[in-house]
Amino acid sequence: MRIDIHTHAFHPKVAHKVVEQLEGHYGISPVGTGTMDDLLARVRRAKFDKVVVFSAATDPSQVIPANSWAIELQKEHPEVVAFGTMHPGFVDMDKEFARLERGGIRGLKFHPDFQGFFLDDPRFLRVMEAARGRFAVIFHVGDKLPPEQNPSCPFKMARLLDRFPETTMIAAHMGGFMHWKWALDQLVGRDVYFDTSSTLDFIPDDLLFEIFERHPRERILFGSDYPLFDPGEEAKKLKARLRLSDDELEEILGAGARLLGLE
Ligand SMILES: [Zn+2]
Repeated sequence: MRIDIHTHAFHPKVAHKVVEQLEGHYGISPVGTGTMDDLLARVRRAKFDKVVVFSAATDPSQVIPANSWAIELQKEHPEVVAFGTMHPGFVDMDKEFARLERGGIRGLKFHPDFQGFFLDDPRFLRVMEAARGRFAVIFHVGDKLPPEQNPSCPFKMARLLDRFPETTMIAAHMGGFMHWKWALDQLVGRDVYFDTSSTLDFIPDDLLFEIFERHPRERILFGSDYPLFDPGEEAKKLKARLRLSDDELEEILGAGARLLGLE
């Protein structure tokens, strides 16, 4: 089974605008339009069986509509595993998490930078407390700001692992976008998953190989970060950069199955 564990898709009405904002933020021209039609066409072309799609609430009022969309998407498309969202300012978290569970949602995605909190913010720790034992949780980690000033970083991620050891966590972008040397120091070898999204175009060879050698292979998941990148092209790039055999590549493409309870 091939799974892309990290993609974003947006309602057709707003996809165009969101994709423009992504371009402004990352300085990368997204390959996709950010719509489900485009994502599913690419996923099928690259022969993936499942794709994880995120949604994000940048303020509390967006939580319910974003999660309703996630529940619908997953019902509508058999290949979609949708992750839900939550915001530290949302009042009745327990009730919303119960609604997600009833809707078959297995994971949550957090992007501290875009959602406006720090990973060690006590308000956010309340969210983690409420989610405990209910969902796998994936975090955007890293970016251009150094760790202390960054809403997310490998150091804060490591403290979360200490605090919530029973929660399945994924540190996106190989432990921290542009924070790989700290990911090596703080996260590699620990009980945390990494995903390969938005990494291959940016990481130097020495750091990429060191992370791959030292982190358990079954905890490295394939993610494309669509619409920034194309799943099929990213899988090819991963194989070429790490000089993987066909079997080794398939192992990474399939690693998300157990995590998502698909085996
Ligand atoms: Zn992403």
